[in-house]
Amino acid sequence: MGLEEACKLFDLSGKSAIITGAASGIGRAVALVLARFGADVIPVDIDQEAAEKVAEEIRGSGRKALAVKVDVTKKDEVENMVEKVIDEFEKIDILVNCAGIISAEPISSMSDETLDRIFDVNFKGTVHCCQAVMEHMTDRESGKIVNIGSSISSLGSVANLSGGGASYCSSKATVHGFSRCLAWELAPEGVNVNVVAPGITNTPMHEGVWEGAQDYYLKSVPLGRLAEPEDIADVVLFLCSEAARYIVGQAIHVNGGQFMAG
Ligand code: NAD
Repeated sequence: MGLEEACKLFDLSGKSAIITGAASGIGRAVALVLARFGADVIPVDIDQEAAEKVAEEIRGSGRKALAVKVDVTKKDEVENMVEKVIDEFEKIDILVNCAGIISAEPISSMSDETLDRIFDVNFKGTVHCCQAVMEHMTDRESGKIVNIGSSISSLGSVANLSGGGASYCSSKATVHGFSRCLAWELAPEGVNVNVVAPGITNTPMHEGVWEGAQDYYLKSVPLGRLAEPEDIADVVLFLCSEAARYIVGQAIHVNGGQFMAG
């Protein structure tokens, strides 16, 4: 195989990709890298204005992009968005679930409201989006779904500054379990489902929640730096590409060695 043919493994030209949480951080980086590799992109977020900016950036690079305001906790909004995307783009090849929120409430005082909110966005939001695209993908016997889990929160131990984070860690562990079940169900129908599990990543998510957490965690990363959103997005790109055709139901940990799995 020559270089040109090898590069085609990563060519996403003609593919359309829905990215949730695409207005910021990891989701934004995923939207931009998939577009750079040729995909048309649908940045989906509760923050319409910021999602539109990402779409504009993508259109500026010559790809098609449509920002859609969706609260992923609302199943009807997710379903309407998927219908709109199929109308406009004819098909959905890729779904990347990045929308997520965090809480640092300690277990002793963790409220039901916090638990519900964290699970609604991180777990049920992911489920809603997968449910909304799965029949379309299985009908076409083709598709890639990447759910963003969490490396140290789901599998490692999280010793954080405030002693909190249980709702977040639990919600992320469910994403891993759900994704394995979905992978089993969809692989025979031609759809690959996998998880990318980031370590601590330099995004706005921690702002005002775990003050100082990034410096704290830095000490336990063998690579000696926190992840940038692009470090995570490049691995998502790989999983969305033809090069990852035989990868199913895996959680790829992208954490600079902070937590070593496998
Ligand atoms: P971020 O805050 O930069 O981006 C999250 C995006 O999700 C925001 O644009 C936000 O508006 C959107 N969002 C929140 N609630 C939503 C809803 N109900 N409907 C639609 N969109 C909604 O955070 P990030 O760090 O880029 O996080 C992206 C994903 O990566 C999350 O699932 C997060 O849990 C996961 N993750 C992040 C880290 C990290 O250290 N940053 C580590 C592991 C996993």
